[in-house]
Amino acid sequence: MLNSLREACGVFSAYDFEGGPIFPCIYWGLRAQNHRGHQSHGFVTFNGSFNTHRSLDLVPKIKRKDIQNWLNKLPGNVGVGSIRYTTSGGTDEESLKKGIQPVLAETEKVKVAVAFNGNIVNNSRLKRKIREKFPGFSYECDAELICRKLLIELMENHDLASSVTACMKEVEGAFSVTGITQNGELFAFKDPYGIRPLCCGHSINRKIYAASSETVGLDINGFEQGFEVEPGELVILSEDGFARQQLVPCKRRALCSFEFAYFARPDSRLGNNYVYEVREEFGRNLGREYSEIAKKADMILSIPETANDAAYGLHEETGIRWERATRRHRYVTERAFILLPRERQTTIDRKINILDRKLRGKTVIVIEDSIVRGDTTKVVIQKLRKKGAKKVHMFITFPRITSPCFYGIAMATYGELIGSRHEPQEIAKIIGADSVNYQSLNNFIEATGLKKNELCLGCVTGKYPTPLAQEIADEMKEKFEKGEKEIGRIYEIASGIE
Ligand code: SF4
Repeated sequence: MLNSLREACGVFSAYDFEGGPIFPCIYWGLRAQNHRGHQSHGFVTFNGSFNTHRSLDLVPKIKRKDIQNWLNKLPGNVGVGSIRYTTSGGTDEESLKKGIQPVLAETEKVKVAVAFNGNIVNNSRLKRKIREKFPGFSYECDAELICRKLLIELMENHDLASSVTACMKEVEGAFSVTGITQNGELFAFKDPYGIRPLCCGHSINRKIYAASSETVGLDINGFEQGFEVEPGELVILSEDGFARQQLVPCKRRALCSFEFAYFARPDSRLGNNYVYEVREEFGRNLGREYSEIAKKADMILSIPETANDAAYGLHEETGIRWERATRRHRYVTERAFILLPRERQTTIDRKINILDRKLRGKTVIVIEDSIVRGDTTKVVIQKLRKKGAKKVHMFITFPRITSPCFYGIAMATYGELIGSRHEPQEIAKIIGADSVNYQSLNNFIEATGLKKNELCLGCVTGKYPTPLAQEIADEMKEKFEKGEKEIGRIYEIASGIE
């Protein structure tokens, strides 16, 4: 989608068993995953004490002359890093600064640093419980909740595994977590449904082990991928070596299916496949499902770049020319949603140049990964028509989004989703397309290489893997259907009613 969604973040952590400085490895692991979060970045390393750097915006480029300063500031052989888009807490600058991860929490005896990818559904209840122990606790992001929860468990003299088990049992939602204890242990764990990705790997000589949201974080460091952390599993790296423990049984796997369509980098691997392979198959599926429309088309356009692989698949299947009729202004990287709605039209001009000679009088298939609100797609279609396109058919790889997400993607209410209110033909009318054609759910699932019950498809089917999310969704839907006013981030409020 052009109007980018806020994702729940990306994490990377590593442990050098030979004591080498870990910062460069964490730095590159985060740079490779900056697509998962643009608002802030942070590093924590450990060399007997915790060292931190936390700042807004993208992970910065480091000039050669500054490398030593960074190494001095962040010494140690253990480190964790995070990039973030806020999906909880405020979005003003002050709140964003407070919400930068990794988060550190401490008491006199215990200290822990945590980086987190996901979203907590029962955050209100957790907040209340944590405030009983830490009255002054200022909640700015879900990572802080997890961090405090861990701290409480560790304080009560539990070991790391029992503390993480308590988190897994009491926290509902999506959480792929990595962090460091005051003893310099590095840990990584995933919620019992495995909603967000988290993989582990190591350097060829097995001197360094790492955990990363996506496999590209390992690739950029030249590491081999070892395994995907299992839902409910804890991985620990310490002076004693490397250990894996299944703490809580996995009731049902539920990897976010939207990762395949939009979030993950195409060169990351999810399940047994590269994401680009799955997206190519999405394109071939669309070609087969809508062959009658494809037959009459002159060209395929992929907007935005996340649809490139699907465009290639569609081109392979149909033989239709995949045209590069739009060009990106290479150094304009701001995401459309950062600006005010009235600025969106200009933003698209700033980001994309459309080549009228290629479009004049043509029937165009525009392939997109998804339609969430539809407002930016509408602007793009207007522009294509203005530049001379005769017909514009939308091919969408992700099935129609009809329901909100409670697991870290900024689609919080039914009302904001064009697909919750309208059928494809109506959507076409609203956004000014000749037709809107979604990939079927069955084909989508088959292309991922996973089974239906191994994926979260909540925003498409309205069936959520975790019970409280389902309860909140049903309640919200009832209100929405009665025409009652919805408010943003309603799940944070609704989860206070348990
Ligand atoms: S509801 Fe949708 S976006 Fe959210 S985790 Fe599930 S599949 Fe992903």
